[in-house]
Amino acid sequence: MGKKLYIPGPVEVSRDVMEAMCAPMIGHRMKEYAVLHQRVTRALKTLLNTSEPVFLSTSSAFGVMEGAVRNLVQKRCANFANGAFSAKWHDVTRRCGLEADLFSAEWGQPITPEMVDNALASGNYDAMTVVHNETSTGVMSPLAEIAEVMKKYPEVSFIVDTVSSMSAVPLDLSALQTDVCLAGVQKAFGLPPGLTVFAVSRKALDKAKTTPNRGYYFDFEEFEQNDLKDNTPSTPCISLIYALDHQLAKMMTEGLDNRYARHRQMAEMTRQWIEAQGFGLFAAEGYRSQTLTSGQNDQRTDLERLKKLASERGYAIDNGYGKIKNKTFRIPHMADFTPDDLVELFTLLEELLPQARA
Ligand SMILES: *Cc1c(COP(=O)(O)O)cnc(C)c1O
Repeated sequence: MGKKLYIPGPVEVSRDVMEAMCAPMIGHRMKEYAVLHQRVTRALKTLLNTSEPVFLSTSSAFGVMEGAVRNLVQKRCANFANGAFSAKWHDVTRRCGLEADLFSAEWGQPITPEMVDNALASGNYDAMTVVHNETSTGVMSPLAEIAEVMKKYPEVSFIVDTVSSMSAVPLDLSALQTDVCLAGVQKAFGLPPGLTVFAVSRKALDKAKTTPNRGYYFDFEEFEQNDLKDNTPSTPCISLIYALDHQLAKMMTEGLDNRYARHRQMAEMTRQWIEAQGFGLFAAEGYRSQTLTSGQNDQRTDLERLKKLASERGYAIDNGYGKIKNKTFRIPHMADFTPDDLVELFTLLEELLPQARA
């Protein structure tokens, strides 16, 4: 029996999205694929307000996170971390055999523009990585302010993970001038997992060509050469690209401003509900995510038990991630969720919470 997913990824997928994946298979070297590829990448450029290429990678986000450092770190990378995904990126960078340093903020706190400025001022780095929306903690770092600082360091590649924010909050790449901006589609896009979209700047594409040992599967030059023909280097997950095509059309029908407003409204509802139950909010004020909210567990709630009770009712809920598991819980409010989905969850939890309390 399937459960309704109230976990922050993979998120609940709408039936119409699943149905879009059932379109007949085509070959990726057929004209039909080029038409699909072009339509999807054009819509992504509209979403991100960029005229630079947006590529489709058949991998989860970590594939492109690894690819980005392999393509763009020639000297040394500064990895900024304030949670599990951003810290893992440092590990990934080192495991690729690259020189890298970790700059950490407390979990629950954002990466600040001052932190970035202080680290990069040493002149030691030619690339940096940052996670816009730390899904492990529910913190959204101030990307526009970080982007302003990055304008002082044009020699440092600006590599950004927007896995759980892209399409839920405005990302204007022509203003942010990121070198890589990537997102796996199983979070804010509301698709099944297996596909990652990523925008790469002209500057980064030119730099990548001069980087040794960047491998094949995530070689940016391969992506660029194939994209010029509306294609991908190797066989893509065509069914998921059908679903992305469908989802992008739905976004444009909803209207991007309406979509962003829906996410703001759901974030507000969730924060209010969590506080009304007597829980604290884990993320620092002013940096709370628009796509998921982390509550702080009080001393009274057995989150493992709550999760089990919810599961018996057909719902998957979250009891925290990494080192803050069971100390926090996360409520996602992204992708196709509406305020009604949250009311459904809150009603259930109000019934179950007394049974999970000592
Ligand atoms: C989920 C997530 C990832 C990891 O994505 P995979 O698709 O599992 O590789 C990376 N970064 C963030 C911010 C995430 O939320």
